Amino acid sequence: MKIMVSACLLGDNVKYNGGNNRHEKVLEYIKGHEVVPVCPEMLGGLPVPRAPGEIQDGIVRNEDGTSVDYEYRTGAAKALEIAESERIDMAILQSRSPSCGVNQIYDGSFTGRKIKGMGVFARLLSEKGYKVVDAEDI
Ligand code: SF4
Repeated sequence: MKIMVSACLLGDNVKYNGGNNRHEKVLEYIKGHEVVPVCPEMLGGLPVPRAPGEIQDGIVRNEDGTSVDYEYRTGAAKALEIAESERIDMAILQSRSPSCGVNQIYDGSFTGRKIKGMGVFARLLSEKGYKVVDAEDI
């Protein structure tokens, strides 16, 4: 299988705070498969470190209200192009991210409250018919 994986799950320091979300169970699961790492936020031109974003009424914003929706959606579109050109079989994505979250996201209040929902990239992939799995379900 060819599996697209959120780069931060692989240990790449691409997270908003300059760290990563290295995930041993995901690393174990992808052994023996072809792996396509992707970080939609970086593909959208956002730097590391960067302000964290949350989705408010469908628009991705930083805590100070600045819209970063264009960057998030551009990055998601570029990551989708990679998924299509690489002909991936599935994607394993980082939980709760406004880009990659599959099961839940933060509610936009920057208070740590979670709601059911998907990040912009996870939603795009899913709408295109790809199998997307949240890292917490591995
Ligand atoms: Fe990880 Fe996705 Fe956020 Fe990039 S956009 S740091 S891959 S969760």
